[in-house]
Amino acid sequence: MTYDDELTEVADQSSADALAILAVYLAATETSPSTSETAAAIAFSVALHNATAVKLADLHLADLLTVSAGRSVLPLGLAPSEGDIPRLTAAVETILAEDSALAREPEPAIAAAPEVAPGNVAPQHERNSLQRVDRLARSEPLEAASHAEGQAVALSDLVVAWTRVLSPGACTKCVAWAEGGREFPKKAAFKRHHGCTCTRGPITKEDRLAERN
Ligand SMILES: [Zn+2]
Repeated sequence: MTYDDELTEVADQSSADALAILAVYLAATETSPSTSETAAAIAFSVALHNATAVKLADLHLADLLTVSAGRSVLPLGLAPSEGDIPRLTAAVETILAEDSALAREPEPAIAAAPEVAPGNVAPQHERNSLQRVDRLARSEPLEAASHAEGQAVALSDLVVAWTRVLSPGACTKCVAWAEGGREFPKKAAFKRHHGCTCTRGPITKEDRLAERN
């Protein structure tokens, strides 16, 4: 299984778990949990998948560097962002509150979809808690992995630069962002969109030496 596949699996599982929790809430039976309990449970579940994604990214980079350096390179032991649970709880509470407000409106106005910054909740046209929770739960681990990869690349003494490795079937935006395989400075910002699975391919000192010989 490739790293891409592994990450996609974590994202899928994160979505499935979040939607299962949401389904119990939306069933609105007497035993259904409250809005805040539901938001907290979804946030906790997504944060767990974020932690798995961070671990995968850390291991993946260590594997790449092991091959490149020709000696074993250990993962850095990166941890997910500390504020994940409160941030995710607030995001899910917003989704659930907006959805129940919408349910009271007979004919909701459908607004044009604005561009959404990574980490934010969905655009207005997806004012549906199922779609929005799915989107959040799926994109979060991918973003956590990408962020961890950036940290690992920046922290590694071996890495001097990176190139954008396009995910299979990458969109035109990502193809443009790769700039034809350009080498970016190791701490350069990595452009990505919601659900993007492109990664950084590290260039090491050893790679540079090999190029010269
Ligand atoms: Zn893309």
